[in-house]
Amino acid sequence: MAEAELDYYEVLGVERTATQEEIKKNYRRLAMKYHPDRNHGDKAAEEKFKQVGEAYEVLSDPQKRAAYDRYGHSAFGGGQGGFGGFEGGFGGFSSAGFDNINDIFADFFGGQARSRGGNRNMRRGEDLQYEIEITLEQAAEGYETEILVPTWTKCEECDGTGAKKGTKPKQCPTCHGAGSVRVGAGFFQVEQTCPTCHGKGTVIDKPCPKCHGTGWKEERKKIQVQIPAGIDDGQKIRLAGRGYPGENGGSNGDLYVVVSVKQHDIFDRDGADLHLEMPLSFAQAALGGELEVPTLNGKLTLKIPEGTQSGKIFRLRGKGIKSLRTSNFGDLYVHTAVETPVNLTDEQKEILKNFEATLHKSKRSHHAPEKKGFFDKLGDLFK
Ligand SMILES: [Zn+2]
Ligand SMILES: [Zn+2]
Repeated sequence: MAEAELDYYEVLGVERTATQEEIKKNYRRLAMKYHPDRNHGDKAAEEKFKQVGEAYEVLSDPQKRAAYDRYGHSAFGGGQGGFGGFEGGFGGFSSAGFDNINDIFADFFGGQARSRGGNRNMRRGEDLQYEIEITLEQAAEGYETEILVPTWTKCEECDGTGAKKGTKPKQCPTCHGAGSVRVGAGFFQVEQTCPTCHGKGTVIDKPCPKCHGTGWKEERKKIQVQIPAGIDDGQKIRLAGRGYPGENGGSNGDLYVVVSVKQHDIFDRDGADLHLEMPLSFAQAALGGELEVPTLNGKLTLKIPEGTQSGKIFRLRGKGIKSLRTSNFGDLYVHTAVETPVNLTDEQKEILKNFEATLHKSKRSHHAPEKKGFFDKLGDLFK
């Protein structure tokens, strides 16, 4: 951040009466002196470079200069102690400022500047997507695996230039290396990405046969992926910078590993909870007792009371899946399903008939409490 008190005329080392030409001349000299390309990692120089840019942004524009002469920094900072700083508090200075710098360097170096360093035609690489299918057990426990994905390294044949060995990319004849062209006339000019070089600023006459002019060598490589415990169907893991390479100095895209979780044979998943339909024999349901219940990691014994009805739900706390974001575990819900026996022998049928007769003779009610109302109403209906 620049100091609010800095005097722009002092920053550029000119008199208050300086002409636009003098301001531009001093700005060029100072901007080149403090340019980050020449002062690697020098924080003081970086700060100076920013101050010089700010000062020039204001003083090079007659309107802004007049406002500054009259009101000082408060003309731009809304009374908040002045200037918004280099990062854009000031009407988009950060981009406008760089354009100025590039334009001026372009004047100076004959159009080479824009393709050095901060190219505004830089493009981030596309994201890549990889789909992986895992089991519910793997999703619950976490899973480490290797996946085969394309990776890009600099083409060795052309050293990443894309030009055939022994040749070099040359300055784009359309934009003279700027990467962009002005279209339109007079006041209504717009800048567009150069149609010849697509913003690179350079063109290749003879492309490198190995990389077909891309400058990249594409290979399939195995990379390690750690899928965290608790991941759910459809969730993604982002591997930053593993996507397609950027252009003109832009950063690489990301690689997204999209996880699909296979449907389990017996468990249904709902977030961190699991649901299981547990068949019970008619006798087990009537008599109650201990049931062996499967979980994702081994068997558990579940005690069920006598007279358990079909569709009753038992909750086993913490026997679900670990939640992805916390260390809590979901629950396992056991839904009972009482089975009607099939393929009965004559003897078994006889026993059941006798059993049914005892129910009718009995003085007790054998309906489950929640079903009683229904049979009472049914009785009324049949009267
Ligand atoms: Zn090549
Ligand atoms: Zn061009």
